[in-house]
Amino acid sequence: MIVILKPGVSEDKRGQLMSWLEGQGLAVHVSEGQFQTVLGLVGDTTQVDMDLIASLGIVDSVKRVSDPFKRCNRKFHPDDTVVKVGDLEIGAGHFVMIAGPCSVESEEQIVGIARDVKAAGAHILRGGAFKPRTSPYDFQGLKATGLELLRIARQETGMPIVTEVMGTRDLPLFEDVDILQVGARNMQNFDLLKELGTWHKPILLKRGLANTLKELLMSAEYIMAGGNDQVILCERGIRTFDDYTRNTLDLAAIPMLRELTHLPIIVDPSHATGISRLVPPMALAGAAAGADGLMIEVHNDPMHALSDGAQSLKPEEYAVLAEKVRAVRKVVSA
Ligand code: PEP
Ligand code: MN
Repeated sequence: MIVILKPGVSEDKRGQLMSWLEGQGLAVHVSEGQFQTVLGLVGDTTQVDMDLIASLGIVDSVKRVSDPFKRCNRKFHPDDTVVKVGDLEIGAGHFVMIAGPCSVESEEQIVGIARDVKAAGAHILRGGAFKPRTSPYDFQGLKATGLELLRIARQETGMPIVTEVMGTRDLPLFEDVDILQVGARNMQNFDLLKELGTWHKPILLKRGLANTLKELLMSAEYIMAGGNDQVILCERGIRTFDDYTRNTLDLAAIPMLRELTHLPIIVDPSHATGISRLVPPMALAGAAAGADGLMIEVHNDPMHALSDGAQSLKPEEYAVLAEKVRAVRKVVSA
């Protein structure tokens, strides 16, 4: 249930109403917009007398929200959330370019790619240190060493870093990572999501291979319910019956999520297609569909990459694409 207050209600009056609602066993989530304050009631609202609340002088209207996700729901929070990473802003018209290799492989590799993608206009460096691989015999990532190499690349370029955390056990190693990524396979690792809810860092939450948008939002809700509202959603393709591409990029997810939630939404066209030549058209499509950013895999030597070489762009290809993305963004934001 949401309670929309009239403009100009005093803190005192609002506090009284909130205490009364909390006294009925409800958690009250306050969202202050530019013109209106919205109270989101979380908990069992079946016994709440809607008409009584609506009759109060300070209340504009009361609505029942049947969606099970509350904190990430746009109905509770009409304004777009802006996720901040240092000076960088993501969401509400602030578009972010994230680029880097699938896996961190060596200092030379990650620092070189970081310099190249930065020169092409990327804002954030990606790179996996802990890799979720389908086969246990495939490269599993450099782990703590990989994180150290990402720190070096950050120091060399000034770019913030985003990297995947696969389990709660590894979390202490991620203290100074700028954005923690929850990968597709872990979208419903509820213990991990709950733990990340207690962190004060942005979380990049990728949609699971076979998960609905509602399930994605419920996973974001897990993180937010713990108190961390810095969540970025990522559409990275879902599994369908088509077998020419690695996954099927669900482009409609972007405008749909935009309606449902205030959280920033980015697109990963690399995992969505699995084929490097398909990455540029799908990246442009993502930008055209209104995404708040793109995460793209870039490798200096894709033929010898330790993971996902087939879908990785070379730095020069990324630079050409980045230019086109900027052109599409101009049209979309005009
Ligand atoms: C990745 O970003 O490297 C990755 C493994 O992605 P996903 O979880 O979407 O497969
Ligand atoms: Mn990858």
